[in-house]
Amino acid sequence: MRVAMIGTGYVGLVSGACFADFGHHVTCIDKDAGKIAMLREGRIPIFEPGLDELVARNCAAGRLDFDTDLTRAVKEAETVFIAVGTPSRRGDGHADLSYVFAAAREIAAVAEGFTVVVTKSTVPVGTGDEVERVIRETRPEADISVVSNPEFLREGAAIEDFKRPDRVVVGTEDPRARSVMAALYRPLSLNQLPLMFTARRTSELIKYAGNAFLAMKITFINEMADLCEQVGANVQDVARGIGLDNRIGAKFLHAGPGYGGSCFPKDTLALTRTAQQVGTPLRIVETVIAVNDVRKLAIARKVEKALGGQVRGRTAAILGLTFKPNTDDMRDSPALSIIHALLDKGMRVRAFDPEGMDEARKVLPAAVEYGTGPYDVAQDADCLVIVTEWDAFRALDFDRMKAILRQPVLVDLRNIYVPDQMAQLGFVYESVGRPVGQ
Ligand code: NAD
Repeated sequence: MRVAMIGTGYVGLVSGACFADFGHHVTCIDKDAGKIAMLREGRIPIFEPGLDELVARNCAAGRLDFDTDLTRAVKEAETVFIAVGTPSRRGDGHADLSYVFAAAREIAAVAEGFTVVVTKSTVPVGTGDEVERVIRETRPEADISVVSNPEFLREGAAIEDFKRPDRVVVGTEDPRARSVMAALYRPLSLNQLPLMFTARRTSELIKYAGNAFLAMKITFINEMADLCEQVGANVQDVARGIGLDNRIGAKFLHAGPGYGGSCFPKDTLALTRTAQQVGTPLRIVETVIAVNDVRKLAIARKVEKALGGQVRGRTAAILGLTFKPNTDDMRDSPALSIIHALLDKGMRVRAFDPEGMDEARKVLPAAVEYGTGPYDVAQDADCLVIVTEWDAFRALDFDRMKAILRQPVLVDLRNIYVPDQMAQLGFVYESVGRPVGQ
């Protein structure tokens, strides 16, 4: 099958490379000429484990190529995916659909024969109807069916998620489109693919409901962590104690600095805007957003507490900048608000991240200094702050750290280490929802 993928970012490139790996012929298209030039030279514009090898293999097999212009690929394709960004619209928090509609217009202008246009971008309920309208306006005679197929992959584990998904949701009321989508995903059926067909609007809403639920779970355990700190309980045991209940499930119950990333913040916000617009406000999701926003700002106080309130002129060594490990994505990372807060408090900030430093430099204030590794940034710092739980920070040599830090202070926002062990090593240790002695 011929596939055109419009938008070659985290979702488009991974999905395109995986479809190619399943044997389809895929052209990934992007307006960003720099990105396409890199890919044509065999370089990968993002960090995603395993992606370089997957892209190289499928390019070599002649199943994957790249273009800045969609004309040829769309003409030949039976399925055209829209995988462009849908960021928060400045000012009101609605999803900005301008990239989606622009792509739809371009597709409509050149499509030939029956073409299934698949919206993979996360879009508010009803967007499929709008995409259809845009296409009809551009080319009334085009034989196009618009389908919703939201993506659930996680950055850092994207290839595995795409190839072995918990479920694939396809929203369409059109039997012709349904059989094309079934054929497209057929190669996954060896893994007993749970392919779920629904109405288009339902499919669009499933994506937002899923992200809102996960954001709520994280926020719930974060508030429990705050309570644990006040009453002398251990949030990790609380999480385990409730997570072993199958009705709750153990995942997404790790207390930390608040959720971030390229999806949860913008998607929860867009969902509440949609709901407000139709007069059915989602109070729980609105509260989740508010609680998380406050948390991201307040979490820097842990550094202040660990340093006995004396932070001005002192140096924080930040370990981890990306919103989670195994990605270079800095969008809405909790590190951004933490670092801003520390700088505002008059601290000097030195930072290290295994993959995110190029992206971090683009979005962090110029005052931030960067080091070459955890021990490099720790040299003469007043405290170590773990913001992202990269493997590289999971087995630090604390004797060495103690020797190079100005004072042995560790703020562990991901609960990697054990409070009692850190106390034995002579560290002032702050974590999330876990008192020393437990
Ligand atoms: P991204 O910013 O990494 O990539 C989007 C790409 O689209 C950019 O490279 C941009 O240049 C390109 N683009 C924009 N308009 C274009 C056009 N008209 N023609 C060609 N290219 C165009 O975004 P992403 O993280 O891949 O997210 C894409 C969508 O998938 C979003 O709606 C997002 O919410 C959703 N999503 C993302 C993830 C994730 O983990 N990143 C997971 C699930 C869903």
